[in-house]
Amino acid sequence: MDEKTLARFMAKVEKQAEVTSPHVDTPCWLWTGAKKAAGYGNAWNGKTVEITHRMSHRHWNGPIPAGKDVRHLCGEPSCVNPAHLTTGSRRQNMADMVRHGRSTKGERNPGSELTRADVYAIRHLWAAGMSLRQLARRFPVARGQIRRVIAGESWTHCYMPRQMPPLPVETRHVGADHGRAKISDADVVAMRWRAVAGESIAAIAVDYPVSRPTVARICRGDGWKESGGPLTRRVRVPRSDGRTAYRVEITRPTPPRCADMP
Ligand SMILES: [Zn+2]
Repeated sequence: MDEKTLARFMAKVEKQAEVTSPHVDTPCWLWTGAKKAAGYGNAWNGKTVEITHRMSHRHWNGPIPAGKDVRHLCGEPSCVNPAHLTTGSRRQNMADMVRHGRSTKGERNPGSELTRADVYAIRHLWAAGMSLRQLARRFPVARGQIRRVIAGESWTHCYMPRQMPPLPVETRHVGADHGRAKISDADVVAMRWRAVAGESIAAIAVDYPVSRPTVARICRGDGWKESGGPLTRRVRVPRSDGRTAYRVEITRPTPPRCADMP
């Protein structure tokens, strides 16, 4: 930035008096000028309109390698304090968002509401290809809530990436011809195949509106007897380090795969 651009830039920076982020030990410099929906500042750099923390990084810290993101160590998207900026891969940038989102969680009750940083991270990570199951593991809220965040049904005022993969069709209340059925025959078959593939009951249960014990019963064939699919049981295998591993044993021969696969 030349002198004139720098003066104009600094006129829109508000240096905080106190440290507000738990991840850094100096105060943030908040951008008060124009912002993009993501919370990033936006300004004229003398040649073109650029994201302000990138301008700041280039001016005080040096060039940004091609293809790299400028990451916020403080977790504040509008901060332009060069001491809070560093370069890294898109992957590291995503990991930062998860960490910043989660760390604020420690100060709140477990199972409480999502923060703005969480919502931001969830949408970014979904756009980057993370699955609902992986997101549900990383953020301590139910999968339904993550789904609503991605769909934009909640947190409507918060940043939404332009390119979002579509959500999978919900399996809830499909084929319910009696009261307790929340899952269809196809779901049951899919669960059983996943168990054969060695997925844990917990991992499978995340994707269906039934409890883990129910998934375990389904995979054992304790109920849902007409639904098809291979049945398995888990055999405990003690390990030398004292922990327990499980081996999946197929107890009912698999029917022809072509007719059976979901
Ligand atoms: Zn900062």
